[in-house]
Amino acid sequence: MPTRARAWATAGRAASIVRKTSVAAVRRLIAEPSFPKDALSCAGPAGRSPRATVLIGDDQASAVYVGGKQRASQEVGIAGFDHRLAGDIPREEVVALLDRLNADPAVSGILVQLPVPGHLDGVELTGLVDPGKDVDGLTPISAGLLALGRPGLRPCTPTGVLDLIAEAGTELEGAEAVVIGRSNLFGKPMAQLLLQANATVTICHSRTRDLPAVARRADVLIAAVGRAEMVRGDWIKPGATVIDVGTNRLEGRLTGDVAFEEAAEVAGAITPVPGGVGPMTIACLLRNTLLAAKMASA
Ligand code: NAP
Repeated sequence: MPTRARAWATAGRAASIVRKTSVAAVRRLIAEPSFPKDALSCAGPAGRSPRATVLIGDDQASAVYVGGKQRASQEVGIAGFDHRLAGDIPREEVVALLDRLNADPAVSGILVQLPVPGHLDGVELTGLVDPGKDVDGLTPISAGLLALGRPGLRPCTPTGVLDLIAEAGTELEGAEAVVIGRSNLFGKPMAQLLLQANATVTICHSRTRDLPAVARRADVLIAAVGRAEMVRGDWIKPGATVIDVGTNRLEGRLTGDVAFEEAAEVAGAITPVPGGVGPMTIACLLRNTLLAAKMASA
């Protein structure tokens, strides 16, 4: 394994130990000069910036994510309120709750945890969140601001990926970046953020011809497919930075979209699953909550 890949893998695995609470990622963000620490006292009755999560139904993965967000919120001093709603709740009741949260000046950030049960429309519900409180960065207004390159709340996972690329010391300007996956949640906003960072961006999907060949062009390869270990070692350009967004269950263990051991032999830098993208996503959610509180108080 090249020395650089080994160092990153070791760092990632160390991060995976603290990943249980995402504390390391949150602490790392707080330490950044650009982190809006002053926003902690911008809103909320106790000098805090409350974040409300609307969790509908009993999706196990969502419950785990929400637990992680709650613990990381406490680390920063953000009050997190989880609204756990029954899986058969009528749409009107969810809409009424979102209306109340939108109108509540004590609430800085709101997110609708996806996926929602089949009788509800996750895109519609997300779109009802006040854009100023859209800490997931997924409302049509936030997506439009991102597309136009205007300031706004950015989606958490792609923003966290940018942080990880920066931490790997990878220069994006002029680099070939390949994103596998074109979802509204991740692939599209990721591509836009990479473009804004002056990378040359290719977006791949299920109809892409000769995906391994396209992937091999990448200086920065980002996989967000949802297929365990689909990206093999011989898809990686030697020295490339590989970011694995995938979260899959394979034979009872959590694994990414990249065959980690194979890829780490070739890559210059690689994130592990678990312990790479997931904790950064949570950390970026908290940063967005503080940014939203700061904007509301400005
Ligand atoms: P998604 O909406 O299901 O999108 C998957 C994308 O992968 C689609 O664009 C699809 O192409 C493409 N795809 C599927 N099979 C393919 C194949 N054989 N070759 C090439 N492309 C293929 O998923 P998502 O919401 O973007 O999430 C992707 C993965 O990231 C999941 O494992 C999810 O759990 C994980 N994730 C993790 C985090 C985190 O914080 N760690 C956050 C978000 C997502 P088409 O468009 O052509 O169908």
